[in-house]
Amino acid sequence: MDDLSLLSDLSLFLKEKKANGVKIVAYLAHDNIPEELLDAAGFFPLRMMFGGNDDLMDASHNFLPPSTCAFAQSCIGLYSTKPNIFSFLDLVDFFIVSNHCVSDICVSEIISKHFNIPRLDFYVPYTKNNSSLKYFKLELLELKKRLEAITGTEITNEKLFESINKYNEFKRVLLKVNELEILGSEKLKVLQRAMLYGPEFQPDLEKFIQYVRENPSSLLETSKDILFTGCSIFVNDNLVDLIEEGGGNIIFFDTWIGSHYSSQIINDSSIQTEKDPLDLLVLKFKDNIYGDHTVPNFLEQKVALIENYYQKYTKTKGRKLGVINHIIKFCDHISLLSSFLKERLQEKGISVLNLERDYSRANSGQLLTRIEAYLEMME
Ligand code: SF4
Repeated sequence: MDDLSLLSDLSLFLKEKKANGVKIVAYLAHDNIPEELLDAAGFFPLRMMFGGNDDLMDASHNFLPPSTCAFAQSCIGLYSTKPNIFSFLDLVDFFIVSNHCVSDICVSEIISKHFNIPRLDFYVPYTKNNSSLKYFKLELLELKKRLEAITGTEITNEKLFESINKYNEFKRVLLKVNELEILGSEKLKVLQRAMLYGPEFQPDLEKFIQYVRENPSSLLETSKDILFTGCSIFVNDNLVDLIEEGGGNIIFFDTWIGSHYSSQIINDSSIQTEKDPLDLLVLKFKDNIYGDHTVPNFLEQKVALIENYYQKYTKTKGRKLGVINHIIKFCDHISLLSSFLKERLQEKGISVLNLERDYSRANSGQLLTRIEAYLEMME
């Protein structure tokens, strides 16, 4: 199951959706976009979670300076060059313009404007207090109205509760995938496929988990265990292969594609008692304490999460655990805090490799050398 088969399967899947009258809404792959609301309105939420290469980055420079993050550059490149394997992007009906970061908002606006895809605005506050939570609810209400106007159908509370429950269950299953003892590259492919297909992929996920449990793989004792944090590894990015080539194995993905997404589960008691499902989405935003979008205590929460996982893992497995903090070049959110994150974790005896890079394939040798050097240090 390589990236090419994933992309061609996705293309068929999306064509089938369109043939059934489903509209596709794309957005950049971070968090806080209310996919449950899109789903309840009958739309298919499509995450832009595709990595890049030199050609895609270069192709974006008519629109954005090269000092924009490599992921954002590649998203523009996908639209301006339209490689064959990404022809499914022509199926997108709407693009969400949101403000996860400056690059996110610029890219989404450019794609909408220059590639003629109607935009849906959804702005997310950078702080968390009573006013910002009220603002978040207003944004939800506005988006709901806009979706209803497009379809001419009301999004009932019943439908929205149903979607919330559906995504909750899906995330519970996804959490189990991250805990499986399998090769990191294999795990990542399953996580990527699941996050592209959404809850419809849940039965396949369950079968996969069952298969792995019944047929445990023997991981190389010599490979070094890695907790992977920072920016995600998107589809078509070879970073996970480089880490494995260097002798490492990612055992936990603490990224947008990985636990950061799947841990955002709304608790059952709130679902049972809350009358307004939009308030559940507000609650999900409020409880998203590991997100890099909102200001309060992000660094503290991140350090605590990694430290807890590290302590538990090293104690129960009796193995060393390294941390790779992946920084896509010019990603402000992850790069700004990276030296603090490394310092804070190293004070606690946890070694960290801050790995900054763009999608240039020419740098693969250099990256591999850095990974190998870090893994050797873990001896
Ligand atoms: S700057 Fe970082 S958070 Fe923003 S689009 Fe790029 S990778 Fe995502």
